[in-house]
Amino acid sequence: MAETIFSKIIHRQIPADIVYEDDHCLAFRDISPQAPVHVLVIPKEPIESLATANGDSAELLGHLLLKAAHVARQEQLEGWRTVINTGTEAGQTVFHLHIHVIGGRPMAWPPG
Ligand code: 5GP
Repeated sequence: MAETIFSKIIHRQIPADIVYEDDHCLAFRDISPQAPVHVLVIPKEPIESLATANGDSAELLGHLLLKAAHVARQEQLEGWRTVINTGTEAGQTVFHLHIHVIGGRPMAWPPG
């Protein structure tokens, strides 16, 4: 998989506002927030997208979801939205799997 901007954040080659880290994942504030709270939760292991993940990553994917909820609690959100854009057509722009955790304002459904 090609190196992305998120690999550079993991390796501290570029700065990010990190809000959570453990051996398997990193969570940091989105540079272009779409709500008062907008955090990205990423695996340290470079997985391109949900489309290329396989069963070997099952435990890691569960871990990422639980940490997304952990970050939401840490940010004192009562409700929040988790989004995983998969593929260009869906709006994925960085090809290193990431969960958006968005909250702090009312949100409509369906999303645009
Ligand atoms: P995607 O569109 O792939 O689902 O989401 C990629 C997200 O990464 C976007 O919301 C974008 O604002 C964010 N992003 C892109 N480059 C950087 C960066 O260098 N630092 C941070 N913190 N976020 C970034």
